[in-house]
Amino acid sequence: MKIICKQGHRRNQMFEVLPENQGQTGRHKCAGCAYDLGKWHAMIGVPKASDDGVLADLAESQASYVRHKDAFTAYLMGYEHGLKLQNVA
Ligand SMILES: [Zn+2]
Repeated sequence: MKIICKQGHRRNQMFEVLPENQGQTGRHKCAGCAYDLGKWHAMIGVPKASDDGVLADLAESQASYVRHKDAFTAYLMGYEHGLKLQNVA
């Protein structure tokens, strides 16, 4: 079953900076969900994923800013932010 992300973060302008993705797994995945996953991984100490296979179970997105953005780049961005949050805490 295809899951389509309905969360508000798909309209987050933060994701406008992400590169377009024209091919890989990340293309149809929600960059917002990928960002959240990366941040979560950093905060709970999961090693940073090395490829976009980590995104396989995420919801897909068809709308707005995150459409066709590189979700794996969003994951990496979330991971970096998660590390910063961890250092502050
Ligand atoms: Zn999402």
